[in-house]
Amino acid sequence: MNFSGSIVRQLRWLGVAPALLMLGLLLLALTWQRFGDAEEELNGRGVFMSRYLAAASEYGVISGSQDELEHQARLALQHTDVRLVIFRDQDGEVLLRRDAGGETEIGDPDLRRFRSAIYRQPMLAAGMFDGVDNAEQPAPERIGHVELYLSSASLVTRQREILLATLMPALIAMLAGLAFSSQLARRLSQPITELSRLVQQIRGGDYQARGVLPLRAELGALQSDINQLAVELERSRREQERAMDALRDARQRAESASQAKSEFLAMMSHELRTPMNGVMGMLQLLDGTMLDPRQREYARAALDSTAHLLDVINDILDFSRVESGRLELEYLYFPLFELVESCVANFRYLATQKGLQLRLVGVGSDADLQICADPTRLRQIIANLISNAVKFTEHGEVRVQLELIEQRNERLSLSLTVADTGIGIPQEKLPQLFDAFSQVDSSTTRRFGGTGLGLAIAQRLTRLLGGVLEVESAPGQGTSFTARFVFPMRREAEALPAWDDAEALPLLDGDVLLVEDNEVNRMVAEHMLHAAGLRVTCAGNGEEALQFLAQQRFDCVLMDVQMPVMDGMEAVRRYREHERVNQTGHLPIIALTANALTGERERCLAAGMDDYLAKPFQRRKLLSLLARYLPSSGQ
Ligand code: ATP
Ligand code: MG
Repeated sequence: MNFSGSIVRQLRWLGVAPALLMLGLLLLALTWQRFGDAEEELNGRGVFMSRYLAAASEYGVISGSQDELEHQARLALQHTDVRLVIFRDQDGEVLLRRDAGGETEIGDPDLRRFRSAIYRQPMLAAGMFDGVDNAEQPAPERIGHVELYLSSASLVTRQREILLATLMPALIAMLAGLAFSSQLARRLSQPITELSRLVQQIRGGDYQARGVLPLRAELGALQSDINQLAVELERSRREQERAMDALRDARQRAESASQAKSEFLAMMSHELRTPMNGVMGMLQLLDGTMLDPRQREYARAALDSTAHLLDVINDILDFSRVESGRLELEYLYFPLFELVESCVANFRYLATQKGLQLRLVGVGSDADLQICADPTRLRQIIANLISNAVKFTEHGEVRVQLELIEQRNERLSLSLTVADTGIGIPQEKLPQLFDAFSQVDSSTTRRFGGTGLGLAIAQRLTRLLGGVLEVESAPGQGTSFTARFVFPMRREAEALPAWDDAEALPLLDGDVLLVEDNEVNRMVAEHMLHAAGLRVTCAGNGEEALQFLAQQRFDCVLMDVQMPVMDGMEAVRRYREHERVNQTGHLPIIALTANALTGERERCLAAGMDDYLAKPFQRRKLLSLLARYLPSSGQ
């Protein structure tokens, strides 16, 4: 098929088809008319002949001359169409009947009957030729009639001739018109169908598909546009693939960088916390010995600095954990007022030292009200806000206000405001306030200390707990931070475990195996345990620990995780297997690890540890934990 024509040129031919159809119809109309003409002609001839015969046979009827009638009949029968002639008298009696051939059947549908009356013409009256017109004319008398039967065979022949002459060309014209129009339609639609198929192929993602039809003019231009489009799409797909590859690479790099970062953090945390544990433990022990006032002052200062350093390390770790989405919240019900009160109480000493009034307002004595949240993180938020308020206020007061806004369907919406009368924050600094490591005035770093992480952590933790943290401030007048939350709530008096209260911690009784490779840490823990009334055996690694466990009975094991020769995890796994095989009772084993990152606790528990304590730990925490597994000595 050649699609080389222009659509416009082809459309011009569109007129030919209806023209041919019209011609066909015209010819049909003509045929119809000629059919009518032939019919009329036959009728006319029949009427004329019957009248003529009636007039000519007057004498024969009057005279009763059979010969005369015979003569007239023969004359009529000379016309090939005339098949039968019958003369009848006035009463309808047949006077003469003559057939063209054999006996003609009168009811034959091929015969047309023409009937004409035979009249006796009156004699001419006297005076008729005198120009006198007043004589009365007598009416002609009907004396019979003639019946003439004409065959319509000639009419049929004639009609067939007409049919052949006009209907055939009409049909041919119409068929030609139809064939032409369908051919034209095909010529127009086929390339469009092909192009539409091409577009569908491209739309389906096959950008290699190209139109190769021999098209010119508009369709040719359309085909080359579609081909161009396919080329462009193919190119942009390649570019997109390249960009996706680059993105994938970048993501992989970022992921491995973030992996490296978290590994670095884990390592740093371990490396920093282990010696910190030693330093803090030793300083605590030193503080408990006989010291002269100056030595005690030095020891306390060293303890303060160590605690501060530990805070900074913890802040950096917390921030990294929140940022990488690795911070897991621990939801539990706890008394809300008690938590806020104890947070405020922690800063009372510091505030008093600075001559500030630290007030807690809006808190009733509803000790039964419990909310479900992560108490450690909520405490961290409040502590960061109060710490800033106290830090950046020289005179006046720090006000902590807890407001219960609405209780509905076991959900409590509350706001917690920490407002101060301190130095305030300029309006233009507020937008960056919650960015990490940002401080309003770098000189404050020197004056007040800090790393600029407190608010960044507080804001991210607030968000994690589903709340918002807002700030309002006026330089020189004070600042107010408000955190708003909605927490599930209940009312239930629930006593906290006794061991959470350092004052109520009893002296303990039992044999403890302390497994720790770091000598200083071992000494610190050993002293703490001895001071709590426990008997302590020390091992330097997992293998040694297993040897001790094989020889001696212990009530509890404190197991460091990272150790040379055999680490704590492996030692615990082996000991649990030994317990299972020998059906000995369950020995409580507590992991001591400097790796405070998320997931460490789960790994320890999965290895068979009963509990987990992050280093550096405080004496109170260690003993609280041990109190769960060991009996008190009763003293
Ligand atoms: P860090 O909290 O890490 O020890 P920081 O207190 O300096 O250090 P943020 O708690 O993040 O860091 O606070 C950031 C900065 O916002 C502060 O350095 C201080 O300039 C300003 N700021 C925060 N709270 C107040 C406040 N109550 N009054 C005045 N300025 C404040
Ligand atoms: Mg701060």
